Amino acid sequence: MNSAHSAEPGAGLNTDAVVTFILGEPGMLLRLLTEHVDDGRGLCKVCSTAGTRHLSPCRVRGYATLALQHKGRRDAAGTDPAAAVRDRSL
Ligand SMILES: [Zn+2]
Repeated sequence: MNSAHSAEPGAGLNTDAVVTFILGEPGMLLRLLTEHVDDGRGLCKVCSTAGTRHLSPCRVRGYATLALQHKGRRDAAGTDPAAAVRDRSL
């Protein structure tokens, strides 16, 4: 396989696992959504460094947005799988 998509950073990550991880960390979702923003040049403030440019919205923000949507559905359904995971790990 030599797809152009394989060049994307983090393309091999399991989206569900990342979303669950984000929702399992208190405050992480809000932090990601407030920090990974457009720097005014169309680049992510956090992901873009002197040597690296990542267009905004970046991949991290994409995951955070998915997590937010997931959270909205979860809250609407009245269940909280992330809290269940936390309870088991305590
Ligand atoms: Zn970013």
